[in-house]
Amino acid sequence: MSENPQRAVPYYCPFCAGEDLWPAGETHGQWECRTCARVFGLRFVGLAQALLPPEPRSAAGSERPITNPKGGPS
Ligand SMILES: [Zn+2]
Repeated sequence: MSENPQRAVPYYCPFCAGEDLWPAGETHGQWECRTCARVFGLRFVGLAQALLPPEPRSAAGSERPITNPKGGPS
């Protein structure tokens, strides 16, 4: 299967706020507005950092303490 992240359909055209939207093209996430005849695409860009919960300390790669990079005291 190709990439198919679950996402809802857009309700309004971002250009004219029309509601007559239909899937356009063969690429997932492309829509055509039959009110203003524009075709646009929706694309997932990433997550907003401000909304993410704070990571646990073990998952923070940059703050991982480096105790013994060479291997242990001898
Ligand atoms: Zn439109």
